[in-house]
Amino acid sequence: MRLLWKWTGLPVVLLVVSCGVQPRLNWPAEVAIEVTDPGKASVASNIENLNSQLGKTILQIGSGTGSPIYIKSVTSFSSTSSIAQGAEVHFAYVESPVLPGKVRAMGTASTRIAGRATLDDSKCVIELASFLFESTTNNLLLPVLWHEIGHCGGLQHVDKAGELMSAVTLSYSKYSQEQIQSFFDSLLSAIR
Ligand SMILES: [Zn+2]
Repeated sequence: MRLLWKWTGLPVVLLVVSCGVQPRLNWPAEVAIEVTDPGKASVASNIENLNSQLGKTILQIGSGTGSPIYIKSVTSFSSTSSIAQGAEVHFAYVESPVLPGKVRAMGTASTRIAGRATLDDSKCVIELASFLFESTTNNLLLPVLWHEIGHCGGLQHVDKAGELMSAVTLSYSKYSQEQIQSFFDSLLSAIR
């Protein structure tokens, strides 16, 4: 019986690998916040807030046994072509009326890139647009950060607008408790 399991187990594992399943991190992830204060403190508090609302520590700042997640602040997003092959790349967008300035991507003229998560099997890199740390738009920092953490967990965009994992991210106060809970449920089941 045991031998049979061993024989049948192997092809199943190979099949999964060769199908190119989504990259997966080991959790709880070890988070390195490569942002200067006071932004660093804001990122840290939003991470602790997420752990606390999930009722589970999925992110450990500065130490941990899981895969690394690097969080950076960037003034512009480098070309995706510089990113390693096989990595999954995800963006978060915000509506540009909230943010005067350069309008970017997503096929419409009304959105601006706010964050990017680049995920491979060994790590996840989250880049946050530096405007998220400005006082007029810092209510977007939490939802954009959580959205990118969702991508690190393997979550994809949902088609519906107005969800935490919709392509366009809104101010935190725009989400209902139900929508936030739905994000928590998806994240917890994705990283299990
Ligand atoms: Zn996204």
